[in-house]
Amino acid sequence: MNKSIPVSCDSPQKQMPWLNVNDAINRMTSAVKKIQNTEVVTLRDALNRVLAKEVISNINVPPYANSAMDGYAFNAVDLPESGEATVTMIGKSFAGIPFAGEVKSGECIRIMTGAAMANGTDTVIMQEQVKVDGDAITIQSGHCKNENVRHIGEDIKDGDTVLNVGQQLTPAELGVLASLGVAKVTVFKKIRVAFFSTGDELRNVDETLEPGQIYDSNRYTLFGMLSNLGVELIDMGIIPDDRTAVEKAFIQASEQADAIMTSGGVSVGEADFVKETLDKLGKVDFWKIAMKPGKPLAFGFVNDAVFFGLPGNPVSVMATFYQFALPTLKTIMGHNIIKPTIIKIACKTDLRKAPGRTDFQRGIMRTNERGELVVESIGMQASHVLSGMSKANCFIILPQESGNVKAGTLVNVQPFRGLM
Ligand code: AMP
Ligand code: MG
Repeated sequence: MNKSIPVSCDSPQKQMPWLNVNDAINRMTSAVKKIQNTEVVTLRDALNRVLAKEVISNINVPPYANSAMDGYAFNAVDLPESGEATVTMIGKSFAGIPFAGEVKSGECIRIMTGAAMANGTDTVIMQEQVKVDGDAITIQSGHCKNENVRHIGEDIKDGDTVLNVGQQLTPAELGVLASLGVAKVTVFKKIRVAFFSTGDELRNVDETLEPGQIYDSNRYTLFGMLSNLGVELIDMGIIPDDRTAVEKAFIQASEQADAIMTSGGVSVGEADFVKETLDKLGKVDFWKIAMKPGKPLAFGFVNDAVFFGLPGNPVSVMATFYQFALPTLKTIMGHNIIKPTIIKIACKTDLRKAPGRTDFQRGIMRTNERGELVVESIGMQASHVLSGMSKANCFIILPQESGNVKAGTLVNVQPFRGLM
């Protein structure tokens, strides 16, 4: 246990272990296994999926030497060392319509970008750099052999391993696969995540609030984050704080899903009730994570499904999802990169921080008038202020032992928009 962690006020029998952020991430990611089931999908259906079988090219890309410019192709032996030389144009090579004959010394062909080099040619001179008089093409000195030629296999060679297992297939990978003539790939099956909110105070967005009630926002942030991750969703709605209802929900979720995610009901005072249910159905640990926001968290297994009991406060839900659920689910999904991108940026504002927990303050990252990245706090950092999460585009991560931060200090920043 870390000495700098605040002393708990809980009674001894209620005490949950404190865990620092990195230990919690390690415990969660190492407790789960990569999904084994795979399926074969067409390229378009493969977008954002995770590759389960490496892709080896059985062609060269480009498949033939071709021109990088619109110009004239000829043999480098005709390049003048000084002055100029004139060669005779004997034909054309257009993209898709190659020149069939042989080009000899003293000859050239007209060639367009992407068109195949003809036999006997090894050099292309841009059309802007020659003089054209009918079929007489005059070239100057100062050019070199192989100029403006794209060589066979320069991008990818026949037999190259092009994509590895665990690679997420983004638009670039779809294009690379298409360039190889690969129409289908083997990917890991989508995992199913069942999620629900717990709390008697929660109402659906289309209902009218009575005194003491609030709208269930967590199911919408979770829906968004899980959808972006690319899992199959089972939305189980709002489950009241009722022993039988909670138990039923957990059993139902574990029968259908690879992972279960809940929000609320894991803070001290509420935990006992959920804890008893989970103790009966599986092996779940209740932790206090040394982080802000997002202290209480439950993790383990309900029957065979991995379980994340996220806190109830809306900002805590998002912070704990990004820090813990995301890398753990990515591990199950077979991703080979699970660590978030973290960059060091100068902070423009003073930040308030007490030593003891890792802070995930919400920040706005932007470029200043000199084009440099800077970050500033969104202001109010309380864990119920969800609008702050919408203003923000990154977490400013302040280490556990850190105190207040002065403006101008370099801070660790984890962007969360567009990075999933
Ligand atoms: P709990 O851990 O269940 O005590 O919840 C902590 C705080 O988060 C309370 O203020 C709850 O009302 C709030 N909360 C819990 N679940 C949700 C939810 N789904 N949407 C919005 N707020 C919630
Ligand atoms: Mg609750």
